[in-house]
Amino acid sequence: MTRRTIAILGATGSVGRSTLDLVARAPDRFEVVALTAHRDVAGLAEAARRVGARRAVIADETCLAALQAALAGSGIEAAAGGQAVLDAAGSGADWTMAAIVGSAGLAPTMAALASGGTVALANKEALVSAGALMTGAARRSGATLLPVDSEHNAIFQCFDHARPAAVSRVILTASGGPFRTRSIEEMRAVTPAEAVAHPNWSMGAKISVDSATLMNKGLELIEAFHLFPLAADRFEVVIHPESVVHSLVEYIDGSVLAQLGAPDMRVPIAHTLAWPERMATPCERLDLVRLGTLRFEAPDLARFPALGLARRSLDAGGGAPAVLNAANEVAVAAFLAGEIGFLDIVSIAAETLQCYGPDAPGSIADVLAVDAEARRRAEAAKKRYLR
Ligand code: NDP
Repeated sequence: MTRRTIAILGATGSVGRSTLDLVARAPDRFEVVALTAHRDVAGLAEAARRVGARRAVIADETCLAALQAALAGSGIEAAAGGQAVLDAAGSGADWTMAAIVGSAGLAPTMAALASGGTVALANKEALVSAGALMTGAARRSGATLLPVDSEHNAIFQCFDHARPAAVSRVILTASGGPFRTRSIEEMRAVTPAEAVAHPNWSMGAKISVDSATLMNKGLELIEAFHLFPLAADRFEVVIHPESVVHSLVEYIDGSVLAQLGAPDMRVPIAHTLAWPERMATPCERLDLVRLGTLRFEAPDLARFPALGLARRSLDAGGGAPAVLNAANEVAVAAFLAGEIGFLDIVSIAAETLQCYGPDAPGSIADVLAVDAEARRRAEAAKKRYLR
């Protein structure tokens, strides 16, 4: 493998830290040109020093002096603000990890795609809101878009990209989250601490709550639709509590290919870091005999309506996925802040979704306008659910 220049957007988050762990283990293979964060100055400075980054960028401009102080004497350039994040994203690195959470990652991910290298995409919200625009940008610049989400990375590894017509179905697996067996009544009272305690994966707070409502799987259905050339009704979801089979691809002859592995994000991240080669990771190996049994169940759409909501927004098209995503971001933040109950997240998303526009956003500015309007409506809807 030749030495690659890399940039990590969202370097202080869960995916960012897993990426840094792999990069720090192979310093001869990777040269880190830029790391970005939002406000975590200490985490960013520590990471930049550890991997010898050229530049560290903090999105919140008020944090610049603190970042400069934390990097003093290191020779690492410090920068701050939205434009500096865009510059880091579009720096022309060979490989960029897009791991900012939420639609805040949209413009930086687009900047990375426009610069034409390989973009490892974790930031699913950007693809949900602006899927066609993002894949179009990649086509125009010649950028390679590699999915980091474990399900989509699994599909990518099993999918016959040269013969998509031979694929009959894609099955995304879902752990079912921490409330898989809870009744609606029991879910009404769950706390943010319970919701972020995922049974199999260690992740950031927002995606952990999305996994608990199953909105994460809904967003992933939309993400899969943009990444793989199949009709929307060819993507299905099955609950698989062990999170060992990361997804499956069925072919017209009845063959089903699956990718399996321990539930550790470093496995799909390593796949995208080394692609098309492979690299060694320290991740736990799969012990099928110790596992013994793998379970599969149909999702319960009555207890987890987020999945049906996402399916409807995918079918509606236009601005609907961007509205759903923005409303969900507002509602999840409100739940994490203790303002609303767990079940109210999906109620707010459903109410806001009724206001979507049927026209497909034609530019990133259009997507951001739909996002802003959906946030305003979701904030208004939220007021009726405040505790
Ligand atoms: P985290 O919340 O752990 O990290 C988010 C990162 O984004 C942090 O570096 C944060 O900086 C930065 N950030 C947040 N807001 C902004 C902003 N407004 N401007 C610039 N940077 C910002 O999230 P995860 O790592 O869990 O998830 C990242 C993305 O990857 C999400 O889209 C998620 O859906 C996806 N994903 C995550 C998986 C996981 O295992 N965690 C698995 C598959 C996909 P700071 O620390 O300074 O706040």
